Order: sequence, then C-alpha cells, then structure tokens
Amino acid sequence: MAARILDGKSLAAATRAALKEKVDALVQRGVTPGLTVIIAGDDPASKVYVRNKTVAAREIGVRSELIELPASASERELLERVARLNANPAVHGILVQLPLPKHIDSARVLESIAPAKDVDGFHQANLGALMAGRPGVVPCTPLGCMRLIEHAGVQIAGLHAVVVGRSNIVGKPVAHLLLQKDATVTICHSKSKDLAAICRSADILVAAVGRAKLVTGAMLKPGACVIDVGINRLPDGKLAGDVDFESAKEVAGWITPVPGGVGPMTIAMLLENCIRAAGAN
Ligand code: NAP
Repeated sequence: MAARILDGKSLAAATRAALKEKVDALVQRGVTPGLTVIIAGDDPASKVYVRNKTVAAREIGVRSELIELPASASERELLERVARLNANPAVHGILVQLPLPKHIDSARVLESIAPAKDVDGFHQANLGALMAGRPGVVPCTPLGCMRLIEHAGVQIAGLHAVVVGRSNIVGKPVAHLLLQKDATVTICHSKSKDLAAICRSADILVAAVGRAKLVTGAMLKPGACVIDVGINRLPDGKLAGDVDFESAKEVAGWITPVPGGVGPMTIAMLLENCIRAAGAN
C-alpha cells in the first residue's frame, strides 16, 4: 500500500495563517514583531533561503529586515551588527544565515546573539535548555519535524524513533524532542554499523544526513512514519531527499516529500519562534 503523503506545504500554509492572527493580536497591543536576517557573502542557495524567510515574515505582518554584507565583511563587523540588534527593542528575532565566509568564526557569531532573540535556536543556551527539558528557543527544522509527525496523528510515546544524522542543528535536537515525547530514540551517524537493520526497527524515522536517497524502502518497517529532512541537488539539477521516495512510499505509512515536506515547515517554525520572542503565546 502506498504511504500517505505528509504535505508540509499545506501544513505550513495553515500554520502561517494561524500565526498571522497572533501577529494581528500583538499589533493591537502595540507590538509589531521584528525579524532581522544577516547574510554575508554571495552563496546563491543562502540568498534564496534568506529571501524566502524575509518574504514569509512580511506576508504575516512581521517587520523583516535583511542586512546583506559582502564576503569580505570582518568578524568584528558581524559581532558589532549583532550587538546593535541585541540592544534594539524593535528587533525580536535575529538570524545569521549559515554558512558564513571561512574567515569568520560562526560559533562565535551565533553565541553573540542574545538567547531570547536567537530564533534559529542554535545558541548553546537554547540547545542546553532543550537537552535539560527547560524553556528555550527550539531549532526550527526539528520543531517542524515534530509538527509533521504530530499532524500525522502518530502517538509517539513508546515508539522506536530512529534519527539518522547527529548534527547540532537537526539530528541531536530532533532526537531530544522525540525523547521528550517519550519515544525510545536511537541516533545513527556515519560510523553506525548496519544502518539498514536499525532503520528497519523504526516506527518513526527521521533522515537528516545530506546523502541523496540513502534510506531506501528495503530499510523501512512497514507503516513507519518517515520524515525526510535532506535537501540534495542531483546531477540533473533536481532536488532529492535523504530517502529514496519511490521505494520508500511503497513501505512507509507516512512520508514527507522533498521538496514540500520539512522545508516549508522550517520557515513556518522560524516565524513562530520570532512571534513568541515578541511576546505571543
Ligand atoms: P550535517 O551537519 O552534514 O550532518 C550530517 C549527519 O549525517 C552527520 O551526523 C553524519 O555523521 C551523518 N551521516 C553522513 N553520512 C552518513 C551515512 N552514510 N550513514 C549514516 N549517517 C551519515 O548535516 P545537517 O546540517 O544535519 O543537514 C542534513 C541534511 O538536511 C542536509 O541535506 C541539509 O541540506 C538538510 N537540511 C534541511 C533543512 C530543511 O529545512 N529542510 C534544514 C537543515 C538541513 P557524522 O556525524 O558521523 O559525520
């Protein structure tokens, strides 16, 4: 039986519509949420991402500003920009688009963002809060993955969730979020032995690897909920996820497409984090 498609595009649209109402309520109270995105350099993919983020913010009434710096911008300049934004009460969310030019210490720049304005949730204070189960800003992509799993109606408690990938921005945070929902969580990485066998025991599988079509249908448990975070450019120019959609959809119960799955939810969650930082519930 073919899997049901977890349509991130339509879930993100519904989420953005609900967020717009929250923005309207904030504006009534005299608060217009403000998001500032900083980009340094000319990476074409990053430019598309930041444009999508600022446009989506404006569409729901968030005041969004894009600061474009040349690739030659110094670390000091970035730190000074962030410091000014930290001190500006009209700015509720600050996002520094990665990757930064090689001569800049990205970790240092990210750590300079005030944790309450860190709408990407990458600051150590926010990642630590997530691990400790304390309030904080949760990274957007992992939060989007959870919304998709919940939208599918999956009762997470007690299920075996396998997360392939252990990055600080996707794999580890999504594993913690699944653990918070009482899943039994296994995290796999490039040194994991017999990935296929581990994946086949997953009721929920999150692939965040960056290797096109690594996870095939033969590696899935029938009926599994499959969340594909990967965005990979194939030689023919098309996009592919980390999951081989064609074979996986014949085995999975639910599956996210690429594009149109996790990606749109990431942007919606960024907006949600920004609106929360501005004082919405
Ligand atoms: P990353 O930092 O490169 O991490 C990749 C992880 O995959 C690492 O933990 C690595 O293991 C593991 N890995 C690599 N090869 C493997 C293999 N053969 N078997 C098992 N594990 C393997 O990547 P990321 O930033 O988490 O991003 C992952 C993917 O998600 C990328 O395609 C990225 O473009 C995409 N992404 C999408 C969104 C979105 O909004 N949809 C957002 C963020 C990222 P080691 O730790 O051992 O090296």
